[in-house]
Amino acid sequence: MHRNASTEHNAEVLFRFAEDELANSNEHISGDCTLLSVEDDKGYQNSLVLALNGLKVQGKKINVLTANSASEAASILAERDDIGVILLDVVMEKDDAGLFLVNTVRNILGNDRIRVILLTGQPGMAPRKDVMKEYDIDEYWNKVDLTEDKLRTLVTSNFRTYISLTELYVAKRGLQMIVDASRSITGKQEINEFTHTVLDEVGKVIGVGQSGGIVCVYRPDNASLAHCPVVASSGDFDNIPANSLAGFLEVDNGGKSNPQLVHTINRALELKEHQFFEGWSVLYFSTAHVDNQHYLIIVRSPLKLESSHVTLLMVFSENIANGFTNLALLNKLSTLAYFDNTLHIPNRNWVVRELQNMTSSERQRSVMVLVDIQNFTETEITLGREYTKSLLEALVANLRHQCPLVYSIALTGDDSFALLFHKNNRPNPQELEALSEQSLNINGLEHKLMLNVCAVDLALVDDLSPEQYLTVGEMALTTGRDRGEQVSFFAADFPAEIEARYKLLRQLHQAIADQVGLELAFQPKVDMRSGKTTGLEALIRWKQPDGTMVPPVKFIPLAEASGLMNKIDALVMKKTFSAAEELQRQGVLVPISFNVTCSDITNKTFIDSLQQLVDQQLVPANMIEIELTESQAMEDYKEVNPVLEKLLEMGVKVNIDDFGTGYSSLAHITELAATTLKVDQSFVAQLTGSDPAAATAVCDMVRRLGERFNFEIIAEGVETEEQRQLLLENGYQYGQGYYFAKPMFLDDCIAWLKH
Ligand code: C2E
Ligand code: MG
Ligand code: MG
Repeated sequence: MHRNASTEHNAEVLFRFAEDELANSNEHISGDCTLLSVEDDKGYQNSLVLALNGLKVQGKKINVLTANSASEAASILAERDDIGVILLDVVMEKDDAGLFLVNTVRNILGNDRIRVILLTGQPGMAPRKDVMKEYDIDEYWNKVDLTEDKLRTLVTSNFRTYISLTELYVAKRGLQMIVDASRSITGKQEINEFTHTVLDEVGKVIGVGQSGGIVCVYRPDNASLAHCPVVASSGDFDNIPANSLAGFLEVDNGGKSNPQLVHTINRALELKEHQFFEGWSVLYFSTAHVDNQHYLIIVRSPLKLESSHVTLLMVFSENIANGFTNLALLNKLSTLAYFDNTLHIPNRNWVVRELQNMTSSERQRSVMVLVDIQNFTETEITLGREYTKSLLEALVANLRHQCPLVYSIALTGDDSFALLFHKNNRPNPQELEALSEQSLNINGLEHKLMLNVCAVDLALVDDLSPEQYLTVGEMALTTGRDRGEQVSFFAADFPAEIEARYKLLRQLHQAIADQVGLELAFQPKVDMRSGKTTGLEALIRWKQPDGTMVPPVKFIPLAEASGLMNKIDALVMKKTFSAAEELQRQGVLVPISFNVTCSDITNKTFIDSLQQLVDQQLVPANMIEIELTESQAMEDYKEVNPVLEKLLEMGVKVNIDDFGTGYSSLAHITELAATTLKVDQSFVAQLTGSDPAAATAVCDMVRRLGERFNFEIIAEGVETEEQRQLLLENGYQYGQGYYFAKPMFLDDCIAWLKH
């Protein structure tokens, strides 16, 4: 489209030059200074071109382009962004064609850096004053006044202005880029992603295009230079052998290392400063105060870096340095949050995050194997924490040995693990079978462990939300275990069942959030001899909006599995206290017990709010009791018992619920901080069932324990007169069960009590 200056001659030219000089003006002039001469008078055009020949501005040659009409000029201008000055004739295809072009440049192309020098042969057509006022032009000259000298001075000074404006523009754009770049790097939370973005942005800031490249290496404290791993690379350095700095240095210099670059890198590390030489920039960053690491970003740019680029790079480096530090801090936090510091493997949070971060297609290709140790708590009680720690360590080592292709092993509970596999590396059924029976060597002795194992094909749960995969897998594991299967598979028909449970869980979430539908029912505890009520047990009831009653056995395990129990327990506690107040108001003085879960007993917030309620003294502390199941009390005995002691100090009685069903609490019975043992209803049922002798033996034993260690005893689940008689014969005085009364809502319960 554009043409270099033609050599055509015209008699009317203002300036005359020798032919050889004309030829000279034809050569391609490189550099940033491009002038566009727009003139329909070819003769005049040529004289302009000749007059500018050999002109230099700030050491740069001026490249002259010509156009013979405003429309031709417009298309040249639309195509190129390097034109600094326009010499513009006013009258061409139309009387005001030149002025029209000015508008196009300023308003349509939006370029206000180009200097426009208007030249006119007919000043009458476009008077200077009007034109300068109306159009954004920089000079207005009458052709007859323009000598060669004037033209050269004019062009030179306008190019100078253009160059300064451009520098300002570049600086402004550079700063804007830094702002944008900083914005895009600060969001990154992972070192690889962060450095990739940084490399992209650095490339943009200094204009590393198709040629050139950037590499980021990190240097763990005192690692040798050659062994510094590459974190990310781009451009020419995209595929670095061995992913190390040594590999990079070889690639860069065709197999040999570049001594000057090595020297510069060493200097950057030594001085802990950025270094620049020729086409190279070596940027130094340190997060040593957080994690003892150092990073280098090495940039090769096609051209020697200009000082403005170096300045931009330095400014940007500040942001990068902050980014590296933030990441290091984040990593440190995530190590604390996502790793188990006893076994030094990822923890449950990590698994959840990992599953969340997987893309759907990654999940299609992944298998999660969950394992759970049988009777772990008993082992811990019998053999102690130190021993079980060794046991877990040995198990992790063994799992790794048995599954060399496992992607990760994480601890998901006290005694459970999740193993993540790529589908191709998944263990087959025989291998899973082998996993479920572990023979471990602990201090030279063999310890056999039985594991429950469940393989979950993540493709099957893909329609659930990621945070549910683990819970769903665990439900599958529990279901398998309850069915007596040591190895189970997350079956394809599982999702429907689980879907239903999730629906229920969502509704429960809602019920808790809205505080509707969850109410307490109260079941009397009675003196079986006199029939007098000695206490009440608060039991939660959930009535769904459609009226369906969901029994606690159905939603409490769900709430436990999904971390909702603390909310339920808090709600129950609050309601128990207000029920106790109401009873007091009505003049009925019987204590109320409410059920709590182990995780809440050891939760400071829960105990603190209980303490607060007690301190308010709206009801006396001895009107409130708690119930905790035997298995939960024993599971975390060391942490739970001190809290139970504290409750007793507050004056709150402690009932051990479902006593006799967990593993024996006998080991701790002497120091167990409880006031009451509630014999589980299964033994009461058995008194009149198939094995009365065995049930009688248990009831007898519990009674003796009570007498010996000063516990009150209550029999749960008394349904018949026969059971009441047998219990009385066995020395039981207190009981609870349908025979006396079913759980009732407060109003009914008060009426019942008064009656
Ligand atoms: P639990 O604490 O052992 O409560 C006794 C359960 O036995 C209650 O069932 C009660 O309704 C039932 N029951 C009472 N008398 C008889 C009887 O004569 N025969 C039979 N077959 N059953 C009887 P519910 O209310 O369904 O609660 C079941 C379990 O759910 C409770 O067992 C308790 O572990 C838990 N639970 C109930 N409410 C709460 C609560 O508010 N918080 C917590 N954390 N757990 C609760
Ligand atoms: Mg109970
Ligand atoms: Mg019970």
